[in-house]
Amino acid sequence: MLLNRVVEVSGAVSQTTSRLEKIRLLADLLRTVPLEEVEAVVSWLTGVLRQGKLGIGYARLRDARTTPSLQPQLTVRDVDETFDRMAAASPQGRRELLAALFQRATAEEQAFLFRLLIGELRQGALEGIMADAIAEAAGLRSEAIRRAAMLAGELTKVARAVLESGHAGLAAFGVQLFRPVQPMLAQSADDATQAIQWLGEAALEYKFDGARIQVHRAGDDVRIFSRSLNDVTAAAPEVVEAVRRLPGRELILEGEVLALTPDGRPQPFQVTMRRFGRKLEVERMRSQLPLTPYWFDLLYLDGTSFIDEPQQRRFAALAEIVPRSNLTPYCVTADAARAEEFLHQALASGHEGIMAKGLQAPYAAGARGRSWLKIKRAKTLDLVILAAEWGSGRRRGWLSNLHLGARDAERGGFQMLGKTFKGLTDEMLEWQTRELLKLAVARDQHTVYVQPKLVVEIAFNDIQISPHYKSGLALRFARVKRYRPDKSPAEADTYATVKRLAGLVDPEADGLE
Ligand code: AMP
Repeated sequence: MLLNRVVEVSGAVSQTTSRLEKIRLLADLLRTVPLEEVEAVVSWLTGVLRQGKLGIGYARLRDARTTPSLQPQLTVRDVDETFDRMAAASPQGRRELLAALFQRATAEEQAFLFRLLIGELRQGALEGIMADAIAEAAGLRSEAIRRAAMLAGELTKVARAVLESGHAGLAAFGVQLFRPVQPMLAQSADDATQAIQWLGEAALEYKFDGARIQVHRAGDDVRIFSRSLNDVTAAAPEVVEAVRRLPGRELILEGEVLALTPDGRPQPFQVTMRRFGRKLEVERMRSQLPLTPYWFDLLYLDGTSFIDEPQQRRFAALAEIVPRSNLTPYCVTADAARAEEFLHQALASGHEGIMAKGLQAPYAAGARGRSWLKIKRAKTLDLVILAAEWGSGRRRGWLSNLHLGARDAERGGFQMLGKTFKGLTDEMLEWQTRELLKLAVARDQHTVYVQPKLVVEIAFNDIQISPHYKSGLALRFARVKRYRPDKSPAEADTYATVKRLAGLVDPEADGLE
């Protein structure tokens, strides 16, 4: 298939605001894509490359733009093979391949490739629309496609399988050992009372501020996956050993790892990550700062998938195989006062808050629904950095004051909610200056405007009505809690959530995100 056809459809999809029309356009395209090219087309149209990031910056791409070809000639296969070669090439080789590719592209194709390579085509909404389009093209239900994609950890392979074999193609996408499942996600509740109102009787667990892990085991073979599904086994040998000691030869467990102080309280998040994020000297660090896993879910045990079992059953089966000291502290209650007390207990033990989980809910891989609610003491939002101002005084030479935006899921783009330079350590200032300069798109005397890529967790005291920003809202006493490299801008908190927190919309009407 010619790349041009994909570019045309991509353009038409972005031109229409009708979700149904987008789905129809994509489904029509998918019906005509040769099977060998399905994975490339699906990944490009959701804004990602099968090859992962190719490490080409904005400036390099701008330089590669050249007199366009007048006739479309590039095929999907040409481009995909070029990306394969670029992934394996040296920086110089990558530049040459990129230049040769752009020379053969029409003006529209150059613009498409530019946006694809810079990551601008990527939007959370597109994946959902693409799943619906694949369902329509294959004559299947959307839920079946979404579920398979979450279990497979990606959509492209599912697309190919169902476009090739229809319903039979889905069979390959059950839970499988060593193929990590997209983690189930949580929404926020204001407090424990609201969580009980929403869920009724619920399982409450401590919410740890560490690193989420999904561990797969077959006999002595144990693999640890991060929240972003990367293999991080080497980072935590003590967790591997602990899992080998459990009964159950085949397991998929989920939990959070934490570094603890000598008296058993949680270390701050940054300290846990200093240990867990390490590739070198793991053995030495291990004795200084051991990691403790706290398990909270069981997805698979000795040939049986637990993914569709209710939370209550999964947790009960988990409690039978892990030592009590490594089981997330929990209680089951329908009583709001008891839930508030449990929240206090978690906070008094130094933890971040609690999770409230619907007792009957299956494990909804990849979904951020109301079956899991997080309740924290400090209010926080995951926001996207839109720009940064140069610091002065001690911070001269560093990008310091951050412009913060919430994702506007309805209108697209971001709504600015304020600025902050508080809470940044010297290490963070140095890191953000480097990273933000790589993302720069424009500058003036004081400010560097960036592609909205970096997600940062912001703590704040209040949200107030503000005439300063177009969003009409501003955060009070905003401070940076930490960077969230595990979250993409598509996963940042939405403007609708901020309005709800500000009390501007009825929480029930807001529904699921
Ligand atoms: P957040 O990252 O703020 O959206 O909160 C959800 C995260 O809390 C999960 O991805 C886990 O890493 C973490 N977490 C800590 N304790 C628990 C728990 N008991 N159950 C589920 N997730 C937990």
